[in-house]
Amino acid sequence: MIYFDNAATTKIDDEILEAIIPYFSIHYANPSSNHLLGKELKKVIKKSKHQISNFLQCNENQITFTSGSTESINTILKGMFFSCLEKGNHIITVKTEHKAVLETCKYLETIGAEITYLDVDENGLIDLIQLENSIKKNTILTCVMHANNETGIIQDIDTIGKICKKHTIDFFVDATQSIGKIPINLENIDFLCFSGHKIHAPKGIGVLYTKEYSKISPLLHGGNQELIRSGTLNTPGIVGIGMACELLLSTEFKEINDLKLYLEKELQTLTNILIHGKNVERISTISNICFYDFEEGLLIEKLKDFAISQASACNSSVIQPSYVLKAMNLTNEQSFRSIRISVSKFTTQKEIDVFLSIFSKK
Ligand code: PLP
Repeated sequence: MIYFDNAATTKIDDEILEAIIPYFSIHYANPSSNHLLGKELKKVIKKSKHQISNFLQCNENQITFTSGSTESINTILKGMFFSCLEKGNHIITVKTEHKAVLETCKYLETIGAEITYLDVDENGLIDLIQLENSIKKNTILTCVMHANNETGIIQDIDTIGKICKKHTIDFFVDATQSIGKIPINLENIDFLCFSGHKIHAPKGIGVLYTKEYSKISPLLHGGNQELIRSGTLNTPGIVGIGMACELLLSTEFKEINDLKLYLEKELQTLTNILIHGKNVERISTISNICFYDFEEGLLIEKLKDFAISQASACNSSVIQPSYVLKAMNLTNEQSFRSIRISVSKFTTQKEIDVFLSIFSKK
């Protein structure tokens, strides 16, 4: 099986795996314990925070460890809603956000939140004028993902941040797919999240950046191990995500992008395709392609030896077109014939060539 599903999750780096094993077997004490073993592990946690704050260019006390982006997203959306009850109840987000955002917003609507879901154009981009026009007196937060998990399309986070700043509205960026792949300037960003398992660290660990943590009402109450999050710290995960951030600094994303462009260019000569978001900025690792010449079932059968993701989702045995592609004005037919190919630093040209050879055979 050839693995082209790196937007779903990535293989852990060997270096990281080797480094974290002792934190399961030898250094297993609780980093919040006050004995010597706990104190030693506190230093390990601090080192990871240092690596992450150096990577993000922020302060260590602006980093909170969570279980992943779903938890971070829930923390910010619910935390802001509950802490701003006096100030306002309006949140602005986008129709193409991850389900972790959309479903949390749907839940918040049931308890009194007002949510604006911005449209995207055929290139997957929001209209900055629509964003600015949506801001009202009761708006407390704007939540926009940096790069889309289905298409890789990058939103203009800098300009969105400036608009939010101008109207003194907090801005939350879901950077789960983009982190390390494109530079990010935190100047106009109040909250940002990403997950370890998308960057070759283990599953079950995430980072939440908060410019001012005191603005957030915590989601998890308990022992206050973290400033806005309770629960025993996940030492192996924390060591892993710190290392992953350091490794991101030296990852050659240009090489990964070249591989993706090679795949797209060659594929175009072999079969009739449409690359979603082809004319706008996309991250190096995701390519979402509609294969006009193949019906959905046929395409899946043809690609059964590849771990790839379909744009359409199976929901109670009914196949639904992708809501992301639908928002970009693509037809159900185009959505059903689309797949996401997502590569990583471990993807080789040979693997891409095997994929291409499927389409060169008549
Ligand atoms: N946001 C985006 C853009 C994602 O791609 C994902 C995962 O696919 C999430 C949030 C949720 O992350 P996790 O599954 O690590 O909680």
